[in-house]
Amino acid sequence: LCAPGERFEMETVVIDGVPTRTWKHAPPSLRALAEIARGHGERLVTIYEDERVSYEAWYRAVARLAQEFRDRGIKKGDRIALAMRNLPEWPVAFFAATAIGAICVPLNAWWTGLELTFGLANSGCRILVCDEERLDRVLPHLPELPALESIMVTRAGALLPPAEHLEAVIGKPGDWAPLPDSAIPDVQIEPDDPATIFYTSGTTGQPKGALGSHRNLTTNIFSSAWSAVRAVLRRGDPLPEPAFKTTLLVIPLFHVTACSAGLMGALFAGHTAVYMRKWDVVKAFEIIEREKVSSTGGVPTIAWQMIEHPDREKYDLSSLEAIAYGGAPSAPELVRKIREVFGALPGNGWGMTETMATVTTHSSEDYLNRPTSAGPPVPVADLKIMNEDGTRELPVGEVGELWARGPMVVKGYWNRPDATAETFVDGWVRTGDLARLDEEGFCFIVDRAKDIIIRGGENIYSSEVENVLYDHPAVTDAALIGIPHLQLGEEPAAVVHLAPGAQATERELQDLVRSRLAGFKVPVRIVFSKETLPRNANGKILKRELKALFLPEQTA
Ligand code: ATP
Ligand code: MG
Repeated sequence: LCAPGERFEMETVVIDGVPTRTWKHAPPSLRALAEIARGHGERLVTIYEDERVSYEAWYRAVARLAQEFRDRGIKKGDRIALAMRNLPEWPVAFFAATAIGAICVPLNAWWTGLELTFGLANSGCRILVCDEERLDRVLPHLPELPALESIMVTRAGALLPPAEHLEAVIGKPGDWAPLPDSAIPDVQIEPDDPATIFYTSGTTGQPKGALGSHRNLTTNIFSSAWSAVRAVLRRGDPLPEPAFKTTLLVIPLFHVTACSAGLMGALFAGHTAVYMRKWDVVKAFEIIEREKVSSTGGVPTIAWQMIEHPDREKYDLSSLEAIAYGGAPSAPELVRKIREVFGALPGNGWGMTETMATVTTHSSEDYLNRPTSAGPPVPVADLKIMNEDGTRELPVGEVGELWARGPMVVKGYWNRPDATAETFVDGWVRTGDLARLDEEGFCFIVDRAKDIIIRGGENIYSSEVENVLYDHPAVTDAALIGIPHLQLGEEPAAVVHLAPGAQATERELQDLVRSRLAGFKVPVRIVFSKETLPRNANGKILKRELKALFLPEQTA
């Protein structure tokens, strides 16, 4: 991956009628990626507690399950759902489905029975592969799911039909090697064939299923590698010899960041991914020390928790080379702290489910010099900033809606022609994020269009005020939200969480904002939350829930 000019070549292909720049050497399909991964042989693909699975054993389990899906009549384009915590079976089921041309539908493991049922019904899945906890949630809703023919459950006790044990097909977790050698059934797959339906996080409304292609996912392998190489070159260092690494993958695989930006690249390069039953900082420290983990991250909260933990220095974390995250706004000083505390390469990136993860990304010096930026676009992506109604492109430096284009942009939303027509225009995705670009193309996300506060006609972008609040040493969590005002329409208010034992008053924080920003941006009220702010599975603060703090009469 480190030979510039050889593997990092681009070419233009026509996707759904639109000429698109892509990575020339990205694997053409997830099936092709599975075959490449098989080449890593006896190296470990996953470590989960005391279960160590080799690439070869993983491949055989994928092939066996793919065969089973075919025997049950699964054809190209049929949907297979996947609902479990991060377990070694996750990438087995994911590749078994996609490598034979079926569409894998990873469902959010945090969802309730009703929400899982929505996902299963919306995507019309014929098979569900899940763990016992998800099974228990779905069972009461089976009558609402006539399309669902089989449920294959991993790590479960006694089961009643239609539920059956996944182990009966692929063997016991961590013990997949003795399966008979077989290959994935041969199915012709084109790069732009559909491969996945990932649901958006539902931060701004009902989650939408983004229909992703094989190319959308494999593109990320090269975009991430390009970004890593760029960081080294920008630092003026020689490129290191390619090496097998161990990564601690703690963010949920049902989100594109973990699956696309994390899992795909690891399988391609032969890295080992360590999964955790549940995120726990001290356990993460133990794993990093024991397995000599070289990278982790995912979302900013994880990095913060590692930095702030009082027992951090008891562990040898010197193997950490990179801590990268994205998916949610992060405090500007996080980048410096990562450098200081771990001596590791900090990285940040922007993307969304509709772009199957990374569109912009940067690390190291670039990021240290622009701590509020999410980086420049990867070479296969184009960005532009458009006015509100999408009729005019805005000049450098002006804030407007971010539009993105490239081989990572999905085909549209599953079963939502209305939302698809609104969001996807001639190969561009309208992101719903407000951003500006600088002269060198670095992207600064300032807010979501839906969260922008308009006070008497003046725009207030959340990140601008939140970044000032984060500058106060006591503040570890900050969210700016709009509260209704009769004459002004809306006014800014904030919710903050302070570091344990730290002190700050409302007045002091308001004065801090006033000293840096125009008076109309100063939060009229600041609520101190005893708890860290509520976040969804992808680390995003749930601003809709916070609004309730300011409207007691409406929530009573
Ligand atoms: P929904 O679309 O259902 O409301 P969602 O937009 O939160 O949910 P995702 O696709 O998981 O669902 O998240 C993408 C969003 O996350 C982006 O549109 C952006 O608002 C935010 N985001 C991603 N990366 C960053 C980043 N580096 N900095 C700031 N915000 C980010
Ligand atoms: Mg969104």
